[in-house]
Amino acid sequence: MFRCRDVGQLLYEYVEERLEPPVSQQLEQHLADCPGCLAFINTYKQTMRLSHELRCDDIPQELQQKLRSFIKTKLSSARPSFWDRLRSRLTGT
Ligand SMILES: [Zn+2]
Repeated sequence: MFRCRDVGQLLYEYVEERLEPPVSQQLEQHLADCPGCLAFINTYKQTMRLSHELRCDDIPQELQQKLRSFIKTKLSSARPSFWDRLRSRLTGT
């Protein structure tokens, strides 16, 4: 069973469609039952889309804060390095 912290850890792979189909399906099952994670995924996708269209520096501050506060509250049990990983993916380092 997927938990919110699992979603946090697989988020990047899921959005980039790199997950094995069974894993992806399990994640989507969790999303169907968890509005919080669904909203988070949507916000994340929005961020990723923006990061492709714009330079990273151009991601709205508000969106970054939304992501950060969600990670803090909802995904507090996720690995602390999650945000660092996300940031490094976005900046390509
Ligand atoms: Zn969840």
